Amino acid sequence: MSDGQTNCVKTTCPYCGVGCGVKADAGAKPSGGTTVEVSGDKEHGSNYGLLCSKGSALGETTDLEGRLLQPQVGDKTVDWDSALDVAAKGFKRALDKYGPDRVAFYVSGQLLTEDYYVANKLMKGYIGGANIDTNSRLCMSSAVAGHKRAFGNDIVTGCYEDLEEADLVVLVGSNTAWCHPIVFQRIIRSRKDNPNKKIVTLDPRRTPTAEQSDLHIPLKPGTDVLLFNGLLAYLHQNDKLDAAYISDFTENFDSALNAALSEASDLEAVAAECDVSADDLRQLYEWFADNPKTVTVFSQGVNQSTQGTDKVNSIINCHLGTGRVGKPGASPFSITGQPNAMGGREVGGLANMLAAHMGFDNPQHPKLVQEFWNSPKVAKQPGFKAVEMFDAINDGYIKAVWVMATNPAVSLPNADLVNAALEKCEFVVVSDCMANTDTTRYADVLLPATGWGEKDGTVTNSERRISRQRSFLPKAGDAKPDWWIICEVAKRMGYASGFPYRHQAEIFNEHAALSGYRNAGQRDFDISDLVGISVDEYDGLEPFQWPRVAEVKTTPRMLGDGRFYTPSGKAQFVAVNTEKPAHAVCDEYPLVLNSGRIRDHWHTMTRTGKSPKLSSHLPEPCIQINPAAAAARGIQEDEFVQISSKWGTAAGRARVTKVMRPSEVFMPIHWSETYSANGGVGSVVSPEVDPVSGEPEFKHTPVQLKGMGMGWYGFILSRQPATQYAKKIGERGTDAWVKVKGSQFWRYEFAGSDAIENVEQWARAGFGLGMPEAAASSDELGISIALDDADWIDYRDPSAGVYRAAWIVEDRIEACVFISPTPDLPARSWLASVFAKEELGEQDRQALLLGEAPDPSADVGPIVCSCFGVGKNVIKRAIAEQGCKSAADIGGCLKAGTNCGSCVPELEAILAED
Ligand code: SF4
Repeated sequence: MSDGQTNCVKTTCPYCGVGCGVKADAGAKPSGGTTVEVSGDKEHGSNYGLLCSKGSALGETTDLEGRLLQPQVGDKTVDWDSALDVAAKGFKRALDKYGPDRVAFYVSGQLLTEDYYVANKLMKGYIGGANIDTNSRLCMSSAVAGHKRAFGNDIVTGCYEDLEEADLVVLVGSNTAWCHPIVFQRIIRSRKDNPNKKIVTLDPRRTPTAEQSDLHIPLKPGTDVLLFNGLLAYLHQNDKLDAAYISDFTENFDSALNAALSEASDLEAVAAECDVSADDLRQLYEWFADNPKTVTVFSQGVNQSTQGTDKVNSIINCHLGTGRVGKPGASPFSITGQPNAMGGREVGGLANMLAAHMGFDNPQHPKLVQEFWNSPKVAKQPGFKAVEMFDAINDGYIKAVWVMATNPAVSLPNADLVNAALEKCEFVVVSDCMANTDTTRYADVLLPATGWGEKDGTVTNSERRISRQRSFLPKAGDAKPDWWIICEVAKRMGYASGFPYRHQAEIFNEHAALSGYRNAGQRDFDISDLVGISVDEYDGLEPFQWPRVAEVKTTPRMLGDGRFYTPSGKAQFVAVNTEKPAHAVCDEYPLVLNSGRIRDHWHTMTRTGKSPKLSSHLPEPCIQINPAAAAARGIQEDEFVQISSKWGTAAGRARVTKVMRPSEVFMPIHWSETYSANGGVGSVVSPEVDPVSGEPEFKHTPVQLKGMGMGWYGFILSRQPATQYAKKIGERGTDAWVKVKGSQFWRYEFAGSDAIENVEQWARAGFGLGMPEAAASSDELGISIALDDADWIDYRDPSAGVYRAAWIVEDRIEACVFISPTPDLPARSWLASVFAKEELGEQDRQALLLGEAPDPSADVGPIVCSCFGVGKNVIKRAIAEQGCKSAADIGGCLKAGTNCGSCVPELEAILAED
């Protein structure tokens, strides 16, 4: 559907659970290929035209580089018929021989709802098992479990407007500024209109979100339940509970209050145990007590824990106790990680759920689903959740697995075991849009799926808003939609009657019909108003918030009337007490590893890694360390460091920063072996899970930390992929390597412990060059001019361990190499400007050999604003020379921070430095 005025197609961002509306315009490049311009959709109710840095850079990720274009069986490219036959036979063979519990699907919040629907139908209604689980298990299954315990069903009760309307927004375990940037922008903008509004962040790290909050409470990891039990106790002790609401609409209050009082009746003691200031804690409690319009937002910092479900319920208890559920500006609010985590929940993409929010806990539901599908079988009990599933594969119990649109070899905890499991599994099918992920290498059958811009269907965001994701690009190569691939495999397994769809709109219709089937208001998820929707109507479907029934076309809030989906119709308080994380720190592993996202990358970088813009902000895997912890280990900024746990190791660049508490380190989740060696934090993360939700404990793994003692550091920038170096990426055991996409080059960062014997030979070999037959004599700078291969200029100082070289072809730089005994190497941002030049002058050549920008202004510094490519040095100059005193002033001078606003906290931090 175009917007009616241009060729723009209205679609939805494929990254986070905010679910921003995007307008995309594809055009032909003069040089061949396609350009894609994106902008925010001003009419979309989730973002009203705003896009963050990731959304704004979507156009950089839609090319064919790295795409999987044809089906493959083993090493052979084959046609679709052959690949589908092999996939279907492999699953049928395992099913016939071992039974329905011995095969599995591992799916993804990247799938569209229609894809998810047929995958779930195939597994639960035709294969007859329930071993289908989704990577959404890793980010929000604790919220699902908490909602079900409290409300009787998996309901996010509020909407984004509530965040604007609230007088108090409490952000718990959520770096919203980076992970859900547009939601954060909406909160920050609303504070400008409401001077009384307060934002509080509860997070062990001083994140960019915390920086912009009115109050940051850096609680000790694992003390969330205690802190919220303390709040419930405080509300009780200060007569701030809503007794009428508790009495009319809830049950089990006394046991929840007693549990809270048993461990958290003394505010000072709670503050001490949480390791926070008692005054700050009292301030939070007072604000919560005094502001009826309070929204508590929670995310992975709450969910990803062995006590994640209890943490969720400790938050919901406080909202039930004050009657703040589903009311304007007053709700608990779970924000999801993925673009369609919510859609997956709606169709039963979790192993413990059935379609349309039905579950195994109601014996009528499996029968009802089977009856509606008219399927030969139906799963009667939950299947393996994500971590259990890969354990079962590793144990040899699961004999065939189909991984769809996700990269578990990187993203699951205890990733080394997951890799071993996939390696030994008898039959592995992977459907993906990318050819070379850490997971595709294990595939017996690789099936090319359409990517964003090609696929077409619906997604649901964190506020229950269902939006269309529309296609505006031709399908890449032979890629096919996921729903089509799943249906074709189903037909070949003998289930043709259940999968007759010709268009995704037919699947959506069936999904809508099931949601209303024998519902009569008994189940929350109901979009039966859309039954019978035509293909044209589906194409034009405007975003709406479910439920959608005949008389109600969109529902921004739920449960505000006090009617819940429990057997009694009343909300349930849940008595919770603090449990320690599964593994405590000890002498061998004295630090707590926290893991999470950074601003400009998404998941395992299979798409954002293609964007130079997004790769410029934080280009390498890093480990954030408090200065005291670094000093105790003799670790300096920028050196390579290693963390180790009971499960594995990972390496990254040391970032010594006070944002960390002394006893904790943080490592981003994004790097895989495709982009780094040993940069994947998943190898280190504990596989312990929450006993209720099955969500892993990504935020609390005991680790040890050490410097890697590298003897030398270096980097290469090269217009062409430097294959000799590139192949090192992904070699396990290689010291430390990372590759980064630049605007006109690939960048390779590395370090080694063993000296390089012949550094020139080593450097030239990386580009496939031999040594020159003869070299001109060196001048006093140590320059040697190679006589072959165009110009190879270099400077070497063997006694200092320094080597610099540049390969210049027809006066344009082709590549450069810098080696030093310390991490103190030339600014990559300056060299990026050298690659932009069509012709190098003598001054440039001298500067390359000196390893210094000829003019300080040529070095923009590390990129802070990736939307406009503004570096830190430029910002500092604007502060010094143009008198910028605020982020708004900097925006006025340089545009930095004026698009998505994600860099505003960093602008403020730079202002504070000066
Ligand atoms: Fe996409 Fe950013 Fe919006 Fe998330 S906040 S949906 S990543 S544009």
